[in-house]
Amino acid sequence: MHRKLVLFDIDGTLLKVGSINRRVLGDALLEVYGTEGSTGQHDFSGKMDGAIIYEVLENAGLDRREITERFERARETYITLFRERTKPSDITLLEGVRELLDELSTLPEIQLGLLTGNFEQSGRHKLRLPGIDHYFPFGAFAEDALLRTELPPIAVDRAARHTGTRFSAAETVIIGDTAHDIGCARVLDARSIAVATGNFSMQELAAHNPGALFENFAATGEVITEILNTQSSLPS
Ligand SMILES: [Mg+2]
Repeated sequence: MHRKLVLFDIDGTLLKVGSINRRVLGDALLEVYGTEGSTGQHDFSGKMDGAIIYEVLENAGLDRREITERFERARETYITLFRERTKPSDITLLEGVRELLDELSTLPEIQLGLLTGNFEQSGRHKLRLPGIDHYFPFGAFAEDALLRTELPPIAVDRAARHTGTRFSAAETVIIGDTAHDIGCARVLDARSIAVATGNFSMQELAAHNPGALFENFAATGEVITEILNTQSSLPS
């Protein structure tokens, strides 16, 4: 039996959040910096929440030093507003996700975790509303780094602390909806599984050579087969 550490992205992979997320970020930045920058039309896909705040404000002419000075207040304001305002109806769980997580959680060789660009508390809130937070005892989040590619080793360390054993690259799978997620798997030399339920098509994702690619997670059994597949990974 092969053990597997399975690290899931949140947005576009497990669920979708309505326009509330953009509105809340815009309002938080307006409150803290007096401008929402380019929040209204910015591409958030696969990006770290912290990096998004820098990008949208730099687009409005703020310099990095000004942004850094009030960054912590902005992060806290965004999280507070997000938790106050986001309701269950703002979250759509993607097709097959609940069944997939249910099924994976019954397999003793599988350890689930998160690898996400979300701040931890707002990310956890997104998962709590549709009742899937309990599947993920640990994760790597936006607070841990400014670059997503720095998250994989952090997630692997947290998995080791949680389980008491270390997962090798061959035992790790990273699942997400963007090229950034596939790139994270490459950092570790781990297997990636891409899913076209976010803003990227099958064709766009295929160009980045994921280990496996799905239109969505409706075919739970096939997804689990790919998760347990050790092909294209390094020998352990
Ligand atoms: Mg995503």
